[in-house]
Amino acid sequence: MTAMNAHVIVVAGAGPAGMAVAGTLAKAGHEVIILNRDIKFGGLAEYGIFPSKLKLRGGLRKQYWELLEQPNVHYLGNVTIGNGKDLTVEDVRGLGASAVVFTIGAQGTKAIGTEGDSAKGVYHAKDVVYHFNRLPGFGDRPFDMGKHVAVIGAGDVMVDIAHWLVRYKKVERVTAIVRRGPVERKYNPKEIRAVCNNMDLEGIRKEFDRIKDRMAAVGQKADEVFKGLTGEFTKCEPKVSETKMGFQFLASPKRILVDGHNRVRGLEMEDNRLDPKGEDTVAVGLKQYYEFPCDAVVFAVGDKVDETVGLPYKGGIFVTNPNKTGNDPDDALFQAYDEAAGKVVEGVFLAGWARKASEGLVGVAKRDGDWCAEVVERYLATKSAGNPTKVVLDRLHTLLKSRQSHPIDVKGLRKLEAAEKAHTGESDCIGEFKYASNRDMISLIERGRA
Ligand SMILES: Cc1cc2nc3c(=O)[nH]c(=O)nc-3n(C[C@H](O)[C@H](O)[C@H](O)COP(=O)(O)OP(=O)(O)OC[C@H]3O[C@@H](n4cnc5c(N)ncnc54)[C@H](O)[C@@H]3O)c2cc1C
Repeated sequence: MTAMNAHVIVVAGAGPAGMAVAGTLAKAGHEVIILNRDIKFGGLAEYGIFPSKLKLRGGLRKQYWELLEQPNVHYLGNVTIGNGKDLTVEDVRGLGASAVVFTIGAQGTKAIGTEGDSAKGVYHAKDVVYHFNRLPGFGDRPFDMGKHVAVIGAGDVMVDIAHWLVRYKKVERVTAIVRRGPVERKYNPKEIRAVCNNMDLEGIRKEFDRIKDRMAAVGQKADEVFKGLTGEFTKCEPKVSETKMGFQFLASPKRILVDGHNRVRGLEMEDNRLDPKGEDTVAVGLKQYYEFPCDAVVFAVGDKVDETVGLPYKGGIFVTNPNKTGNDPDDALFQAYDEAAGKVVEGVFLAGWARKASEGLVGVAKRDGDWCAEVVERYLATKSAGNPTKVVLDRLHTLLKSRQSHPIDVKGLRKLEAAEKAHTGESDCIGEFKYASNRDMISLIERGRA
């Protein structure tokens, strides 16, 4: 890459996908400006992955620091893009960069659509995860879980929530509410180790007995499946609470039941049966309802993108180009597309969970970012070199100043990291100390600055 054909690219979002895009493009010799809502980089690698997974998080952090130390990478945290935020999508497009890649994750919550879902004690899993990972805005907000918590879902996020409830909140009971049966559980058996010493084996056996005929109707043998499910309860982490964890299968919450103070007292549940669907099964409601008592409900059913950002949006996702044409037909998958205008949004790309909400682990988001960077490179190869970096950065800083924004650069991040590492006082954090508010972080960073 010669200076002649180097470009400036803005990457919005510094999670695993954004860092992959930035890494590949920086390595190819381009100048990359990363804008991130959170002060810290990492996205869900910092604020989603369970806080006690120090090795995984530490490894990613190290890798991301190395990228941010590159002279052609310019990081600004605490910059949110969206209507009424620090910068609009149009502001970012108007900075004069050759391309803009949105890797802002899936920040919207799926409408739960259950009557009573605004009751006290009803939470979305992402908010709870952000809370125990101390994302500013969530870290110091109270999450009152009561004694018995129903977690809706059967994936790894359900297990992470259970992990927190069993090992840190030490509630009396956690029940995973699963629309289909035990065969269709989605969590990784390794993840269940965090909670398997707290499994209510007797209760789970009874639950299998309750649903065994409905399993048999689709050729599933309850006894074998029970052995398989409980057989995964090995290498369990030492027990630290008396919490009992169980499952409620073939169950769809229809309504949240509340007391006189609009506080959760239970769920109205519909019993489901399983019908075959090709190799798979589907849940079909039986119109038989029952009350399931609980004190809090956490919906761990996946996320959607944030439609208020200002990118073309439809049905929970940002719209990408449906017309597979151009250099490589798959390039279209990453191009933002304006349906009303019937054309791609010139120079705007999407990757990671912003492209496919709740899809896969860090490795998947990283691969998506790498792939997107290749698509962007093919796009840039058709363009003559754009504006010099200084021009784009000056415009950016002028705009942020006029908006009275408070961007945090790598120097500020270093200071923050050093202070958090050195922190020895009282802390209710899991794993390692983190400041829970932007205000605290900013005042620490600014301390001693002229
Ligand atoms: C609860 C939970 C647990 C998980 N545990 C694991 C695990 O143990 N192992 C594993 O490999 N994977 C795990 N994952 C999956 C992994 O975190 C994701 O695959 C990955 O983080 C997605 O990367 P991303 O970059 O697309 O989005 P994100 O990680 O969500 O990053 C988005 C970034 O965009 C920024 N942003 C958001 N909105 C804006 C905006 N409007 N303007 C500017 N910036 C914005 C955010 O600040 C953030 O930095 C977990 C996910 C969850 C939800």
